[in-house]
Amino acid sequence: MAKSRFEYVREFERENHLLQETYIVIRIDGKGFHKFSQIYEFDKPNDITAIEVLNSAALEIFKQIPDVVFAYGQSDEYSFLLKKNCKLYERREMKLITLFSSLITSAYMYHWNLTHPTNPISIEKKLPVFDARAVIYPNFDVVKDYFRWRQADCHINNLYNTTFWALVLKGEGMTTKDAETYLNGTFSKDKNEILFSKFGINYNNEPEIYKKGTIIIRELNETIMKKDIQHQQPGEEGEVSNRQLQRLEKIVKKAEIKTYHQDLITDEEFWSSRPWLSM
Ligand code: ATP
Ligand code: ATP
Ligand code: MG
Ligand code: MG
Ligand code: MG
Ligand code: MG
Ligand code: MG
Repeated sequence: MAKSRFEYVREFERENHLLQETYIVIRIDGKGFHKFSQIYEFDKPNDITAIEVLNSAALEIFKQIPDVVFAYGQSDEYSFLLKKNCKLYERREMKLITLFSSLITSAYMYHWNLTHPTNPISIEKKLPVFDARAVIYPNFDVVKDYFRWRQADCHINNLYNTTFWALVLKGEGMTTKDAETYLNGTFSKDKNEILFSKFGINYNNEPEIYKKGTIIIRELNETIMKKDIQHQQPGEEGEVSNRQLQRLEKIVKKAEIKTYHQDLITDEEFWSSRPWLSM
């Protein structure tokens, strides 16, 4: 078989190697999940089991890809931060994003069916499908702002959805159209006020997982941090040696994977107490 006669077709392939020395963030997002949530009868505004399914799927990614150090999820999306010197697939963009979208999809299927024995995914109804994109950020300040942006989005949407579904489901008898019109042009303080005066809901007391989303971190404990990480701080010229990086990698591999629902926007200490995220 003269395989070589055909091999010229490879020349048509194009590859985008994501720039070295930058932070890669991969965001996956459910395709048509507004519809998906109707078909599989999600509780509104927040279906806790659906959130847990996506969180479990994201944890699966942490287990399978050691280069993922941090992730943030809300609604039908998750953003994964890869460590700065990530070499996975030689940083080939297409390989990376397709790996993440297929991993999240198959893990979502698995965990959905595990937790919904009476409402399993059915090919006749709808399959869960996720797209993915990769973005590179030049420094960790921008990375932090990226995650703050996603959490701000979570807050805005959750306040809106909480108010919207209270109007529809909690005795006001509004249709979804009515509620949409009613909320048109309102500010955050108006929605807080509607929730409180009409429904006795203090938005501040809503569950943190809905207001803040979910953070997953490869976490180092205090003792390891004190013993090892402080020696890992960049030298005077801001350089981290290869040996330091290798040690850090070993530590991070053994680290626990932990989940939180807390503020990323104003809590600077959240970031500064975890220097390994930016190394
Ligand atoms: P696209 O394909 O463009 O992403 P989409 O329908 O997925 O379209 P998104 O902007 O991604 O739109 O919004 C996701 C939607 O999924 C939310 O608006 C919400 O209706 C629904 N959704 C996702 N997760 C949950 C959940 N845990 N509980 C209730 N609804 C959810
Ligand atoms: P990579 O992650 O780089 O793609 P790989 O192990 O998937 O690594 P491929 O070059 O894609 O390597 O080859 C796929 C391999 O999967 C084949 O070499 C074969 O061993 C196995 N395989 C795939 N489909 C079948 C099948 N239907 N029956 C038996 N073996 C199969
Ligand atoms: Mg979208
Ligand atoms: Mg979506
Ligand atoms: Mg979305
Ligand atoms: Mg293969
Ligand atoms: Mg193959």
